Amino acid sequence: MKVKSPLEIYRYLPQTNCGECGYDTCMSFAAQIIERTVKPTDCPPLVKEAEKNPKVKKKLEELIEITSPEVKEVIIGKGDKAVKIGGEDVLHRHELTFFNPTALFYDVWDTLDDKEIDERCSKVVEYRKFYVGEFLTLDGIAVRCTSNDPKRFREVVKRVAGYGKPMILVSLNPECMRAALEEVAEERPLIYAATEDNWREFLELALEFKVPVVVRSKDLNKLKSLAVTFKEAGVEDIVLDPVTEPVGEGLKGTFERVIQLRRTAILGEDKDVAYPIMITPIAAWALEADEVSKAYWETVIASIFIVKYGDVMILHCLEPYAIMPIVTLRYNIYTDPRTPVQVEPGLREINNPSPDDPVFITTNFALTYYTVESDLTSGNIKGWLLVLDTEGLGVEVSVAGGQFTAAKVKDLIKETKIEEKVNHRYLIIPGLAARLQGAIEDETGWKVLVGPMDSGRIKGWLEQHWPPKEK
Ligand code: SF4
Repeated sequence: MKVKSPLEIYRYLPQTNCGECGYDTCMSFAAQIIERTVKPTDCPPLVKEAEKNPKVKKKLEELIEITSPEVKEVIIGKGDKAVKIGGEDVLHRHELTFFNPTALFYDVWDTLDDKEIDERCSKVVEYRKFYVGEFLTLDGIAVRCTSNDPKRFREVVKRVAGYGKPMILVSLNPECMRAALEEVAEERPLIYAATEDNWREFLELALEFKVPVVVRSKDLNKLKSLAVTFKEAGVEDIVLDPVTEPVGEGLKGTFERVIQLRRTAILGEDKDVAYPIMITPIAAWALEADEVSKAYWETVIASIFIVKYGDVMILHCLEPYAIMPIVTLRYNIYTDPRTPVQVEPGLREINNPSPDDPVFITTNFALTYYTVESDLTSGNIKGWLLVLDTEGLGVEVSVAGGQFTAAKVKDLIKETKIEEKVNHRYLIIPGLAARLQGAIEDETGWKVLVGPMDSGRIKGWLEQHWPPKEK
């Protein structure tokens, strides 16, 4: 995005504050464009006026141009299940944020029997890993044509479409690709891949079926030339595959090609390659090695390119030990650094507590909250856990920064009605908030006990301090 402030966008808007966009003022709407939660075309009066007046139309086009991400955003799939790739604006997350997490597609192939295909598809659909309050999942299925038989490829693609996940169709044979597209083009699969040898047929397919397409070449000049050819012919949704080589000098070369593509795209040096990048960690399975080693290399390659600019990937190994590091790393790289990860404040009941059980308090910083909650739950500790809104900051920082205060603790006690649920007035605060002990007692009238620094020690601490001697 070429603009950095809402004021620059405001100049292009009608400035009537009519509220039709759902925001009270045009300035708030402009701020949301910067946040990428709305688009210029979400302002109805602007769009209506552009339809009648060529000058306004030009203005709207200019606004779309200056607010578009540096890297084109491409959508694979349709409806709620569609996945967005690309759409990035910066080279480093701390400069703003990364927007669209690397999309992970796992393969099935059409020489498997139907039962094996169903097993793999189910694994992709059902994969869920709970992490910092969210379920991490996989994005889609890449269907590889290994039969080279259009009829079989079409059948398998139809079967896989039944699982409702976005798809990548993988075949270099235009006949096979056409057969598959006749079956599932409406699902908006990504087709893989147009090369030096088949690009004419793939260009026809992309135009005829209106689907996004991968162009593939290890030579970046040829890759660019393919992208330009497709763009000039009217294909908007293009993905670049600079060819993933799994080890040694090949891997080093892959890394250099990816960095070069993304740098030139983001720095505006070459808009002809400003498209999402495809990485194929599955290439590790062509190595001569045992299965676990291949899975190891696949995970290494995926990790490198989750950190550096891989927008979409095709992978093979569905073992939890291979998937877990990939989805966890992706979560961490694509977390918005401008907003701390937080949970809802309020009251949580841990292990069906009774009115005699202890009351703890922690912050709503997700990492702190889930650590405390898991230590209490897994330690079979019954208790009441107050979660204070510290704007997503941890205990030490929020005590120092004034987000964890005695007055806020008093409000939380009132809001959660905890006084009606327990028959004592003891509150256990984290050891890192010890300096608030007196202030909380004065403000709330509760007796404050200073718990351990580390929630992993709560169990041992309770053995010595609960129930309180002076109850
Ligand atoms: S709909 Fe357009 S004109 Fe109306 S408030 Fe929103 S941005 Fe402003």
